[in-house]
Amino acid sequence: MASSSEGSGDALLPDFPRGPLQAYRARASFSWKELALFLEGEDMLRLKKTIFSALEDDPLFARPGGGDLPMEKYRELNFLRCRWVFEHDLLRVEDMLQSPLKVRALVNCLGMYDWSLAAKFFLHMLVFGSAIYNSGSERHFKYIPKIFNMEIFGCFALTELSHGTNTKAIRTTAHYDPTTEEFIIHSPDFEAAKFWVGNMGKTATHAVVFAQLHTPGGGCHGLHAFVVQIRDPKTLLPMPGVMVGDIGKKLGQNGLDNGFAMFHQVRIPRQDLLNRAGDVTPEGTYVTPFKDDRQRFGMSLASLSSSRVSIVGMSVVNLKLAVSIAIRFSATRRQFGPTDEEEIPVLEYQMQQWRLLPYLAAAYALDHFSKSLFLDLAELQQGWLGKDTSARQAELGREIHALASASKPLASWTAQRGIQECREACGGHGYLAMNRLGHLRDDNDPNCTYEGDNNVLLQQTSNYLLSLLTRRTQGGAHCKSPLKTVDFLEAYPDILGQRFEVPSLEDCLDSSVPLAAYEWLVCYLLRESDQKLNQEKRSGSNDFEARNNCQVYYCRSLALAFLELTVVRRFHEHTHQPSVPPPLRAVLRRLSALYGLWSLSQHTALLYRGGYFSGEQAGKMIETAILDLCSQLKDDAVALVDVIAPPDFVLDSPIGRADGEQPDATQAPPRPGGLSPPPSLAPTVESGEDGSSACRVFVAFLHDSCSPRFSSEAAWVKVRFDRPGGGGRLAHGSRPTGRDSVCRVWWPRGPHGKASPRAVILLPGCASPVPARASWVQEDRVQEKEHTEAWRVPRRPCFRSRKGRVGCSIMNVLYGAL
Ligand SMILES: Cc1cc2nc3c(=O)[nH]c(=O)nc-3n(C[C@H](O)[C@H](O)[C@H](O)COP(=O)(O)OP(=O)(O)OC[C@H]3O[C@@H](n4cnc5c(N)ncnc54)[C@H](O)[C@@H]3O)c2cc1C
Repeated sequence: MASSSEGSGDALLPDFPRGPLQAYRARASFSWKELALFLEGEDMLRLKKTIFSALEDDPLFARPGGGDLPMEKYRELNFLRCRWVFEHDLLRVEDMLQSPLKVRALVNCLGMYDWSLAAKFFLHMLVFGSAIYNSGSERHFKYIPKIFNMEIFGCFALTELSHGTNTKAIRTTAHYDPTTEEFIIHSPDFEAAKFWVGNMGKTATHAVVFAQLHTPGGGCHGLHAFVVQIRDPKTLLPMPGVMVGDIGKKLGQNGLDNGFAMFHQVRIPRQDLLNRAGDVTPEGTYVTPFKDDRQRFGMSLASLSSSRVSIVGMSVVNLKLAVSIAIRFSATRRQFGPTDEEEIPVLEYQMQQWRLLPYLAAAYALDHFSKSLFLDLAELQQGWLGKDTSARQAELGREIHALASASKPLASWTAQRGIQECREACGGHGYLAMNRLGHLRDDNDPNCTYEGDNNVLLQQTSNYLLSLLTRRTQGGAHCKSPLKTVDFLEAYPDILGQRFEVPSLEDCLDSSVPLAAYEWLVCYLLRESDQKLNQEKRSGSNDFEARNNCQVYYCRSLALAFLELTVVRRFHEHTHQPSVPPPLRAVLRRLSALYGLWSLSQHTALLYRGGYFSGEQAGKMIETAILDLCSQLKDDAVALVDVIAPPDFVLDSPIGRADGEQPDATQAPPRPGGLSPPPSLAPTVESGEDGSSACRVFVAFLHDSCSPRFSSEAAWVKVRFDRPGGGGRLAHGSRPTGRDSVCRVWWPRGPHGKASPRAVILLPGCASPVPARASWVQEDRVQEKEHTEAWRVPRRPCFRSRKGRVGCSIMNVLYGAL
């Protein structure tokens, strides 16, 4: 490691505890700390360490031992955790603006802990927040501080029960009424119910709702986004005319409350139209800066591109976690051996290396790509905000849209396949829920679906490439793009004439070999797809049929190959740049070559069919090179995992522990709760910089049967500190997370510090007092109080539809329709 950063590197990246993984660590060809510093930089490593430590230090994030939480509890706990993230200012707004990569890092760190938490935070803060910021204008900026301090909680409601991928067919309407200067948001029928919307199930108070905008006499102006309040932020009860609820248990991410909503003539102010793409004057005239409808539609859905780019990062995180678990396990798990006396780690088997190490290489290559694409997107967004209307900005938008549309499929599928391979590579232990591979697989799964089904999305990328070819062949236009991802197409006919000519295995062990092969492959698939499309049209198919009939084997493969080429190219350039420290060059270049060759090997049939490969030597050389690289990387694998794995508490997989000690299966996981606080959760008092005190309050509910009451949507525990002479201070709201809960309460020193307060637990929604006891530290003594008070909340009003049917029957029909 460079001497200047050695000291800080050691503090940031302490040595791992000694254990069975030591043998592999000692054999590594490089310093894992040096690689971590090179790839991430000190600043980013410090941020990640701060986030991970903060989570580990707070009991709210204690991993529930003894099995899964019930879904309702999990959702409540997840909300509390999300609120905690906001309260603890893990990333200051100035830092976010200064370094967008830090926002990505925060979401990914939370995701490493639990995707339900990261998704909840991400949907509110980034999807809802950035939809308002990017699609709205100054009149909407009033929402931004409320988003940051969680005065309101948001969601992004595009998909409906009957349409998701086909966004143009969304049926919710927004009719403008000039007499009151309001829009009337309406769901014409059950099929138009907003559906799947993350955060909408229980917690969102506001939604960005996509609806077809109508003006009197002006007809329909297409899909636009509106800010609609769906719940009262104080009670979380639905607003008049809104029927909203939770869609129920999913295959994964069950801490996140995905929901549905129907709107019955809900009136919102004219100003709540997000008006960057189009606006309505008070009199009811529609105005838009875009001449072209398609351009405006693209702008109103622009926020989808940024979500897709984020999903690439999320998928990479999942792949990193899975390979970390499987490689650490493989380095310590011993099976068979050359003699009866000696068993060897399963990582020594060529088969295990071939199954896992390409996914390790993929995690590195895709991680680099994902960061670079994120920065490209940040540049694009800067341009939009600066109202850049140049041709370059428009071209950049098209290029990033094409890249984002194929990178989500590539990253999410690679992660999904990789996690499954890791699961199987850990044998039975991989199937044990506590080792987390199953959860990772289920939590990664929807990355293949939301923000557009992967297979459908790929069409966006192939359409982009085909249109470039048409422009080139028909109009003689140059194939040059702002990010240079398509510049190689300038040499399209020459590249098609190239052949695989690699003299020796030695020469094949570099990523320049797959890079050249991929350029040929993309040109070949582009020519094939174009010819197929024209042939379909010549044989009488209309445009719609022709496009559909050339997806399989043509356009789909084209889009994937183009993206693989881009990933290989960017990682190749990154690992071959002069600034790579010499001790890291060999390992990084091996990773780059392995990812490129392994990806390419999945297209061997096409490479032979199109004539790039000929004779058996070419195919064999690629296979031998892959195995060779796996064997060369085998001793580095544990150190490579050390660079990307989070701390044990976050990784949360006994077989993936950093010391390599395997779990003692005879030790039953601890049962949560009990009537006394466990030692780590005992009441403590902490001093804040501003003279305030933080107190951890341990709440023991004295009766198991209390628990179901807290599942109700409105049940919140609030701890209030009363002074003897009257006058109370509600120090903090908190939600019980189980039979025994811990919440942290801040209150200023001063009158409360001197007084002897009476703590009260208030339970909105519960008709009778709940037997509970709270303990906390006050003036250096542990205080304990029994609780007797309860809040009442009004009964939930019944939703009445236009035809007068009550809410529950509507819900029955809605669920019946599923
Ligand atoms: C966990 C989760 C969270 C979500 N969160 C949100 C959210 O917060 N907000 C929101 O608005 N939405 C959300 N969604 C919805 C998501 O965006 C949609 O599910 C997605 O866009 C797919 O739409 P769909 O489910 O209606 O599938 P459909 O569009 O009905 O497609 C079904 C299938 O048909 C096939 N298909 C469709 N069109 C074509 C075509 N042109 N060519 C070939 N095959 C085709 C594909 O195989 C596709 O999978 C979420 C979904 C999930 C699973």
